[in-house]
Amino acid sequence: MVAFTRRVAEAEGIDLREIRLHAHARGSIACYDAQASWEDHFVEFCGGQNRETALHELAHLIVEDYHSKTWAVCLMALHRTYLPPARARRADRVLAMEYRSARPLYLARYGHSAPKKSEEPPARKCHRRKTSKKRRRVR
Ligand SMILES: [Zn+2]
Ligand SMILES: [Zn+2]
Repeated sequence: MVAFTRRVAEAEGIDLREIRLHAHARGSIACYDAQASWEDHFVEFCGGQNRETALHELAHLIVEDYHSKTWAVCLMALHRTYLPPARARRADRVLAMEYRSARPLYLARYGHSAPKKSEEPPARKCHRRKTSKKRRRVR
């Protein structure tokens, strides 16, 4: 996970200065999956996150934006570059289910809409993402 994050950051020329990991001594604690700050140049992951989460956060650092269409375009390109094809397709679908900004992009690429979130169980049963008050500290 750390090695993957570092590799992608280097390949993409991201000014990433810190990769933080944390875990909880007890399970089922409400927490964010991950967060990132392009001002402070870090990404932070809660325990048990995958490469899709790493790419999600790194896309925030690349575009310096929240969950905009620009961000979604960037993230789908990262999926294509750093995940095997089947996994990239799955990641695109989950992305389009979770973020409205990605839905038109998904439709344009695959020719059909991604399922609505309610039609399938949540992709991640881990933690809820928390909205941070701090400016430009994005999930
Ligand atoms: Zn946590
Ligand atoms: Zn995010």
